[in-house]
Amino acid sequence: MAESNGKDERRVVVLGTGGTIAGRASAAADNIGYTAGEVGVAELLGGIDAPPGISLTAEQVAQVDSKDMSFAIWQTLAQRCAYWLAEPAVAGIVITHGTDTLEETAFFLQAVLGPSKPVVVTCAMRPSTALAPDGPQNVRDAIVVASTPGAQGVVAVCAGTVHSAFDVQKVHTYRLDAFDSGDAGPVAYVEEGALRVLRDWPVPAGERLAFDRVAGVASWPRVEILLSHAESRGSIVDALVQERRLGGPDVVQGLVLAATGNGTLHHSLEAAALRAQAEGIAVLRATRCSQGRILPRQKEVLRDAGALTPVKARIALMLELLSGERSA
Ligand code: ASP
Repeated sequence: MAESNGKDERRVVVLGTGGTIAGRASAAADNIGYTAGEVGVAELLGGIDAPPGISLTAEQVAQVDSKDMSFAIWQTLAQRCAYWLAEPAVAGIVITHGTDTLEETAFFLQAVLGPSKPVVVTCAMRPSTALAPDGPQNVRDAIVVASTPGAQGVVAVCAGTVHSAFDVQKVHTYRLDAFDSGDAGPVAYVEEGALRVLRDWPVPAGERLAFDRVAGVASWPRVEILLSHAESRGSIVDALVQERRLGGPDVVQGLVLAATGNGTLHHSLEAAALRAQAEGIAVLRATRCSQGRILPRQKEVLRDAGALTPVKARIALMLELLSGERSA
């Protein structure tokens, strides 16, 4: 890691959470048979030169395959981000993360921190032991973004492209350029250590749930995602409602319905969702289409999540339930 301690240096803090970027395989030619989250974040910075005037600090926050991401890790990550962002010398933060739930972590951090400095989530599609690992270039690009004056908000950096936390989605299982921003398009490109900015950086959307409130949560509201499809059954919703009637610590409080097209639902699922809503369960429709947004129609009885994907709508609904400001 390039680390120098000149007095006027600005600092980029790199928080490690695991993922393929920290993955190790037994053979260099094996790009898929690896274990994620094995290599420490300090080691990932080996051989990466920071931009002039920038020093790097590494901190290991977690070491997981991001398919197993947890609320506890999100809380710790948000706390560490808040701590470092408050340091005047810190220009920005980089988070090394698995690709599978990167968009959820990015959206969560944007929602609870709404940072005025850049928080850059980066990743890799090949393990660190691969013949041609993509992690080192992604980390270097992420450091460039995190140290660029004027950059702000939570963004994802992968394959030279900067995506807003609001728009980013993993869209490919294997190729290196695995993320997309849909209709919105990327925020910027990173080219040879320089940013080509295309549009505004993400800014906080509306009222934020106080970060302190999130940091102290011991039990998160359970919000399930259900997919509307041919022959959808409302009985799955009824089973959740029944479980809730019986009571317990982890009964469902919210449902996100991954709806077809412009927010439409199979009639069986819709009828059951209305029964659930009448019982006090918060229901939100999000489109299962990978692009576009739900355009509101008149007389809709179930709220829609606009442009949010089902996984992001779930986070938004959990935060809304935590804030106690839910309107069913
Ligand atoms: N399963 C890995 C993870 O999300 C995949 C990746 O990082 O590409 O941690």
